[in-house]
Amino acid sequence: MPRPIEALVHSGALARNLARARAGAPDAQVWAVVKANAYGHGIERAYDGLRGADGFALLDLAEAERIRALGWRGPVLLLEGCFEPRDLELCSRLNLWHAVHQERQIDWLAGHKTQHGHHVFLKMNSGMNRLGFAGAAYRSAWARLNALPQVEQITLMTHFSDADGPRGIAHQVAAFEAATADLPGERSLANSAGVLRHGGVRSDWVRAGILSYGSAPDFPEHDIAHWGLEPAMTLRSRVLATQQLAAGDTVGYGSSYTAAGPMRIGIVACGYADGYPRHAGTGSPVLVDGMRTATVGRVSMDMLAIDLTALPASGVDSIVTLWGHGPGGSMLPIDEVAQAAGTIGYELMCALAPRVPVTAVD
Ligand SMILES: *Cc1c(COP(=O)(O)O)cnc(C)c1O
Repeated sequence: MPRPIEALVHSGALARNLARARAGAPDAQVWAVVKANAYGHGIERAYDGLRGADGFALLDLAEAERIRALGWRGPVLLLEGCFEPRDLELCSRLNLWHAVHQERQIDWLAGHKTQHGHHVFLKMNSGMNRLGFAGAAYRSAWARLNALPQVEQITLMTHFSDADGPRGIAHQVAAFEAATADLPGERSLANSAGVLRHGGVRSDWVRAGILSYGSAPDFPEHDIAHWGLEPAMTLRSRVLATQQLAAGDTVGYGSSYTAAGPMRIGIVACGYADGYPRHAGTGSPVLVDGMRTATVGRVSMDMLAIDLTALPASGVDSIVTLWGHGPGGSMLPIDEVAQAAGTIGYELMCALAPRVPVTAVD
């Protein structure tokens, strides 16, 4: 029998979450953002649930090839554009749309021999200060692209730094509008938090990432139930062994947990080498047979310990839900586990380890 840990990718949840993005941006086209191997879900496994999108946005050329290999003939966008001139050949061959965020990418386009007019997303740095042209440089980049025979269409694009938080997007929207007011073409502004929290902003193409996978971008201010989202990934395993502890007994490496009185713990076949965060300390939430309890002691490479004291019916072979859907309609949002580990749902999904077998289910 294989080690009992496994992950599930829920196609129906992906589709319903994506529909939530559509409802939040009814006039927009929706990119399903599938970078980082569909946020750890696997592009091939997530494809069925996300094929209702208007296009797929990603970073990696190999991932773009995988989307085309699945039979997707619609739009595919490279969010960081090309990394070297020859990437443009793949863009021409596979009809990939690509972001342009720096001058040398325009130079490469100008030198590219192609029969296909390219669709580019011209990226503005409106305040995030990662990628893109700011202000006047944006306008001259637009003019340069517009004059190139290789370029057929230019969509205006920017990215929000604070759509999920108190600073909001107004300062970036103002910078964007100031530089683009008289430029023709479609706009692409909103990420998941932009769609959910700032539905009023004009964005002809929204870029829905995390919401499709069932994590709230603004947790803990709002949880997935608030936004009408469901987990698209379940990580589950089983109890391998139990231990009866007396007051003063300790658990795991470093003896970081000491039992205050008699207690029963379960040892679960899941550790940081499976992608469960080692930073999740004692008290991190977990479900056993669909009932909520908490971890105790340090997470080790292959195992972690949970408190079974209040759950006498649970023991060896009980189902442990690390995040996602549990038995009997129970559910543990990945955001709660992430919070216990001092991180965000995005990081946990993306870190699901290759050694965990994954199955796509409805
Ligand atoms: C990753 C990414 C997104 C998606 O962000 P979410 O917060 O996951 O919705 C949107 N736009 C760009 C440019 C990105 O890199």
